[in-house]
Amino acid sequence: MEELRLQAYAKVNLTLDVGPRRADGYHEIHSVMQTVSLADELFFSRTPRGVSVDCDSPEVPAGSGNLAGRALEILADRLPGGIRLEIRKRIPVAAGLGGGSSDAAAALKGANRLYGLGLTERELLACAAAVGSDVPFFILGGTVEARGRGELVRRLPPLPALWLVLAKPDFGVSTAEVYAGYKPCGREPRTPRLVAALEMGDREGVLHALGNDLEEVTASAYPEVGALKARLEALGALKTLMSGSGPAVYGIFPGEREARLAARELRDESVTHFVCRTVNEEETREGEQG
Ligand code: ATP
Repeated sequence: MEELRLQAYAKVNLTLDVGPRRADGYHEIHSVMQTVSLADELFFSRTPRGVSVDCDSPEVPAGSGNLAGRALEILADRLPGGIRLEIRKRIPVAAGLGGGSSDAAAALKGANRLYGLGLTERELLACAAAVGSDVPFFILGGTVEARGRGELVRRLPPLPALWLVLAKPDFGVSTAEVYAGYKPCGREPRTPRLVAALEMGDREGVLHALGNDLEEVTASAYPEVGALKARLEALGALKTLMSGSGPAVYGIFPGEREARLAARELRDESVTHFVCRTVNEEETREGEQG
């Protein structure tokens, strides 16, 4: 294969339970993550030698500063030739939507296919964990339980399809700073409840179990987060939540029509937003057919 095009989907955290800080500085987390239809586009082509990574967003570094570049470097020894990768960025940067990690996972999958390396999912997961905590999740895609610092991943039954409006204040936040501001509050973890609801196919149970321990940290520093959630609720969201360390938030709507009507209001108010739906594992594989 000389060329390949892949979609790199964004994620939202349906739950994010944060445990105590470990000796290595990371917090132990327990989370359910879900891929959504908002996606970057990655174009791969073979070159005689070397790896080059370019991105059309000025906020995103090129080359080895790019998480996708770092992922390709990990594979460098196994590549029989070079790779040119171009990233068309659509996922907002530093928003809690996992864009960089998703690009990195797609880079690993793309290199594997471009050169027919024959790497198994297990091998891809090991490379992914060496790039970053959220990268293994994107190797699997769909609905996934994550533990450890996020790298211990397990597939869950697919979430019943949901329509979302993602909204984002016009700034990014540093994940490390948000974790540094986190104080354990002894709240009951939500992830076990969500996993049980998913295993029973209980849509109402899913909606009730959603929650994010980092939301208070980011929302107390940036009132825009709470304001956007309130706006989504006023526009008919059944449930709203911040994703990851934020500041992006999402509202779950009863269906596509309701989500698009809410989005129309946000457009008139000049709020950065995206209408999207949840994407299951099978669909993420279709996005890899290129
Ligand atoms: P996380 O929650 O995993 O920290 P995020 O969604 O909040 O992720 P990203 O959009 O992945 O944040 O970007 C975080 C930082 O990584 C940015 O400052 C950006 O410059 C850098 N970065 C490196 N490679 C990429 C990439 N391919 N796409 C986006 N950001 C990248």
